[in-house]
Amino acid sequence: MRKITLIPGDGIGPDITEAAVRVIEATGVAIEWEEVKAGLSAIEEFKDPLPEPTLESIRSNSVALKGPLTTPVGSGFRSVNVALRKEFDLYVNLRPAKSFEGLKTRYDDVDLIVFRENTEEFYAGIEHYIDPQRSAAETIGVVTRNGSERICRYAFEYAKQHGRKKVTVVHKANILKFTGGLFLEVAQNVAEEFPEIEFNDKIIDNMAMQMVLNPNQFDVILTTNLFGDILSDLASGLVGGLGLAPGANIGYNAAIFEAVHGSAPDIAGKNIANPCAVILAGAQMLDHFGEFEKAKKITDAVADVIKEGKQVTRDLNPDKYVGTKEMGQAIEERVKGV
Ligand code: NAD
Repeated sequence: MRKITLIPGDGIGPDITEAAVRVIEATGVAIEWEEVKAGLSAIEEFKDPLPEPTLESIRSNSVALKGPLTTPVGSGFRSVNVALRKEFDLYVNLRPAKSFEGLKTRYDDVDLIVFRENTEEFYAGIEHYIDPQRSAAETIGVVTRNGSERICRYAFEYAKQHGRKKVTVVHKANILKFTGGLFLEVAQNVAEEFPEIEFNDKIIDNMAMQMVLNPNQFDVILTTNLFGDILSDLASGLVGGLGLAPGANIGYNAAIFEAVHGSAPDIAGKNIANPCAVILAGAQMLDHFGEFEKAKKITDAVADVIKEGKQVTRDLNPDKYVGTKEMGQAIEERVKGV
């Protein structure tokens, strides 16, 4: 029996993680869930958005499935998501975006993986106002050779192991000559060790346009923290939106699986959120354990339910939809073979 930390999260989190747990359990995998709190719900109970029992649970189990956590905009406590990535040195953020059959989107054959450096640059929290009048503010983005090298190597190794053909590194090294330049240089050096994988680079602004115009020219996308955050949302938009986009945060000693999307306060508590992103994150988690067949059962079941189109949430079909619970149940039944 494998013990896994479960963080239901804020907003739509509890509903979608409940659906994910049911779907994962339907595969027959033996998991004991250790449910802990983080984010707004943890503040209510512990007066701390990231209490010690939560950290201790992830430390001892090494793997967590996490619902989204709310971060106040502009002021208030710092992002708990970023804090978790820092605390456990989860330097890889792996965010796939793949088209689903039967879903009306701009393209029907997208198959991308975004690798985002997850610990450095503008998300490191090195920022302040320069004076009490708040007349100016600065955020310092530090990019290190080691930090760049480990994510670049991970992306290339992944591409090699998974039969991916091409890696595109995305940067702004024409303007950010030092931070962007260092990341690009490291990526170029690592690419030389993988001659079987095609390699090119794109400047971020051009990349954003190219992904919208012709996403099929890309395969694996490798980039720094902020650009990766933005491009992975863009990639999800190409295949049906945030409701379908899972993400894995991976380090040497721990991994946290979650949806790319946030706590969606605008639709929380209404049974309309799409549970697929966190369900697919559950499949990524099973893959991570080597439970490949069970993971595939989940991705196949999600694809089947979307293809059939009868039990999908409002974001996927605004004309005819069911609730979060109902779509979750439909996926669970497919997994069970009912
Ligand atoms: P969001 O991802 O929560 O929502 C963006 C839009 O997508 C909203 O219109 C929302 O209704 C929709 N959406 C998101 N998930 C959906 C789903 N499963 N089904 C259907 N529609 C869905 O982004 P936001 O509104 O910018 O952020 C809300 C909060 O979430 C903020 O506090 C932010 O900091 C936090 N956030 C957390 C994470 C995380 O926990 N990893 C990631 C991103 C944002």
